[in-house]
Amino acid sequence: MCGIAAYAGRQDTVTNILTLMIELQHRGQEASGLAVASTDGEVHSFTNRGTVLEILNAENLLSAVQIRGGIFGGIGHVRYSTSGPFFHYSAQPLVVGNSRYRIAVAFNGTIANYTELAREFSMDRGDGDSTVFANLIYRLAVEFDRDVVEALRVLPEYVVGGYSVAVVTSEPRIVIARDPRGFRPLAYSFTDAEFYAASETSALDAVGAGVWMEVLPGEVISFDGKALEVARASMAECVAPCIFEYVYFSRLDSVFNGVSIYRARFEMGRELAKVAPVEADVVVPVPDSGRAAALGYGRESGMPVEEGIVANKYVGRGFIAPPPVREVVSKLKYGFVKDVLNGRRVVLVDDSIVRGTTMRSIVSRMRSVGAQEIHVRVSSPPFRYPCFMGIDVSSRDELLVWRTVYEKDIAKHVEADSLGYNTLKGLMRATGLATFCAACFTGVYPFGDLKLEDLERMFVR
Ligand code: SF4
Repeated sequence: MCGIAAYAGRQDTVTNILTLMIELQHRGQEASGLAVASTDGEVHSFTNRGTVLEILNAENLLSAVQIRGGIFGGIGHVRYSTSGPFFHYSAQPLVVGNSRYRIAVAFNGTIANYTELAREFSMDRGDGDSTVFANLIYRLAVEFDRDVVEALRVLPEYVVGGYSVAVVTSEPRIVIARDPRGFRPLAYSFTDAEFYAASETSALDAVGAGVWMEVLPGEVISFDGKALEVARASMAECVAPCIFEYVYFSRLDSVFNGVSIYRARFEMGRELAKVAPVEADVVVPVPDSGRAAALGYGRESGMPVEEGIVANKYVGRGFIAPPPVREVVSKLKYGFVKDVLNGRRVVLVDDSIVRGTTMRSIVSRMRSVGAQEIHVRVSSPPFRYPCFMGIDVSSRDELLVWRTVYEKDIAKHVEADSLGYNTLKGLMRATGLATFCAACFTGVYPFGDLKLEDLERMFVR
């Protein structure tokens, strides 16, 4: 999971891209970067480790702001790494090409077969799938006489994985695309003078980008400063948007595939209360992603919902933190409200249990402030299988449910009095979607004949 943004138009390009990136910061905090194309055919990129606000002080970014007047437009990226070694990676956008033709690429997703692609095209693996992905797009564009639209149209024929991508070229032109299965979100707005794009609709709303549209799965959209062109990928596929975007990733005020993230999460809570009821005194959400589901659980069960846990906003999202940081994050992230928890039977609602690290620490600290009973309720089904399409769980060994088959053992592991999960049907009813990717719950990957074992063999971190 990462966030991508793009802007071209009359207003200050750099400020607009940075604003979109800040609005997407929940999708990645490890590194941030932007690339702009000048009207005279140069592509400049500015990247650094850290959040957007952290890199704003970096000297190279200040020089970006100073390229005024001649900027056509650009793209931005906030990073959460899903491949390559942690702490040793290039931040995106990645710039590829030569003095005659250059492109910068930012993408959100994972390319599971990037080592095979690197072998096939004799490319350097660099520090992960982003290097191979950017180079592949460049090679294909050059093959098609410097046509990135055509490159992105045929790209799905080469790639196994999921992606939403933004490219700025030295022509100059901005091109955005979603893979044909539509795993990751991407939306844009367009008037005759301005083009905005962002991973989530909430970012477009926040910057006042006007009426937006979601990029359809397999769509390739290009803006050259005057006109918008829409093309479609050459491969037709079953549509499989990531259900986990509704469970955890996306912001509450976003819309994905026409479905409100808030409404989907609230309804997941209601479904959860139906399949996993329990007698208790109060419903307490794990902030922030468990909150809407807790409200739904409370509405359906008739129990009061109270804030018993306070999140430290400065620590960041534990799920998307790299492994060495995750342990620290799970310890530092929460404070506990004794007034709400002491002596009470609590239904603790969270969006998912992936590794179990955070939940165990929360339950133990709730007991230390006097919670009498703790019944953990999870608004998604058991997370059993790894993801190869954009989140950082690529090994079964990382997953608590894979390691611990029985719910009572998982409850014991996280030290809860009971544990209850949502069902896949519940997610279907909550989102109203007929088709989606739920491979992390089912182990069925939407890549035709490719099975879990094939993907595990293919994907090298
Ligand atoms: S495997 Fe899970 S997290 Fe990955 S794309 Fe599918 S639903 Fe989303």
